[in-house]
Amino acid sequence: MVSLTPLRHTPLRHAPLASIRRRARSPLAVLEALATPHGLDRYLELVNPMLTVRELRAEVTGVRRTAGPSVTLTLRPTRQWRGFAAGQFVTIAVDIDGVRRSRCYSPACSEHRADGQLELTVKAHPDGVVSNWLYANATPGLVVGLSQADGVFALPTPRPERVLLISGGSGVTPVMSMLRTLVDEGHAGEIVFLHYGNTEADVAYLPELRAIAAAHANVRLVLGYTAQAAGGDLHGLFDETHLADAAPWYAEAPAYLCGPPPLMAAVRDQYAAKGIEDLLHTEEFLAAPLAVPDADATGAVRFGDTLVENNGATLLEQAEDAGLSPAYGCRMGICFSCTQVKKSGCTKNVLTGDVHTDPDTEIQLCISVPVGDVDIDL
Ligand SMILES: Cc1cc2nc3c(=O)[nH]c(=O)nc-3n(C[C@H](O)[C@H](O)[C@H](O)COP(=O)(O)OP(=O)(O)OC[C@H]3O[C@@H](n4cnc5c(N)ncnc54)[C@H](O)[C@@H]3O)c2cc1C
Repeated sequence: MVSLTPLRHTPLRHAPLASIRRRARSPLAVLEALATPHGLDRYLELVNPMLTVRELRAEVTGVRRTAGPSVTLTLRPTRQWRGFAAGQFVTIAVDIDGVRRSRCYSPACSEHRADGQLELTVKAHPDGVVSNWLYANATPGLVVGLSQADGVFALPTPRPERVLLISGGSGVTPVMSMLRTLVDEGHAGEIVFLHYGNTEADVAYLPELRAIAAAHANVRLVLGYTAQAAGGDLHGLFDETHLADAAPWYAEAPAYLCGPPPLMAAVRDQYAAKGIEDLLHTEEFLAAPLAVPDADATGAVRFGDTLVENNGATLLEQAEDAGLSPAYGCRMGICFSCTQVKKSGCTKNVLTGDVHTDPDTEIQLCISVPVGDVDIDL
């Protein structure tokens, strides 16, 4: 099954001969010039969507659905894939009801995986567009858009001797990748894997985690259950005693944390209280509410043919409120899926406070608010 938008919607036009002569320097350049304006990949995908010249894509080769509910996908990337560092994320794009949707996912596999494939575990969120679609529809043979890996949440090189990995719920994926990578490297230092789930049944990768801990004396698995009194090692919500219990040396070693916002906040508070926040590295799956100054919103925002009164929210939210469906991925300014051209007007980046006044510049809709009249090429 191929999920990429087929070519049939766009009429084929060929490039003028002069432009072909100018650009033709190699057989590939000649073919690409002939394929203008669509690009060779648009033609090749009619034959085989995995046969691409420029675009990075991936074919689903394995699908495993688990309670949770979540789905674990194995993906074979096209030859453009440059690999990833344990902890980083990729952006997956699928076409759902004719609209291309992108979302970020953190590979859970080792960065040294022998067959070069990627493993993603996606939790299906209630009302979640992409996660539910993947849970319901992903089958071997599905071809999806893929980005190169990105993000600074990654194990450093050389590896720290002691490492504390903390996760909760679906936030297990990037730290699972770190654990699998360290094990593949024969890391000899202490690794504590502290994971929180509501109950034992909610813990992804549990048999493998237990097997790794059993086979490696330097790996300690500590399971915290927030809604199950029996079993596990810790019970109830995170507190400082959990850290002292799981990794008494935590104030002297780097920690990598990914989980639901309340867990992230509690761990951050603990590190801040001890004055050791530099040791804590974090990855957010869900955007924190942006502090948007909407008190003095003025002007109007144009999205193509749609004109709305500026209500002070981010451009992404204002476009969605107007019934439009611009592409987005992370909603927190890290994946650039929502980048669009601002034709005119002034916008403010709510993360940095920078104001952009130049016309015809690319901006990220999810973290930009209009300052007065703005025209977006959507
Ligand atoms: C760097 C990064 C890495 C990520 N890695 C993974 C991963 O490995 N596995 C994984 O399952 N997800 C991961 N995510 C989250 C993922 O990108 C999507 O946000 C998630 O799959 C929901 O997308 P959706 O289209 O189904 O939901 P949307 O249609 O975008 O949202 C629908 C509803 O779900 C809520 N929602 C969205 N995401 C979450 C969330 N994480 N927790 C609680 N509520 C949420 C929204 O607030 C909204 O109300 C990652 C996100 C980032 C930024």
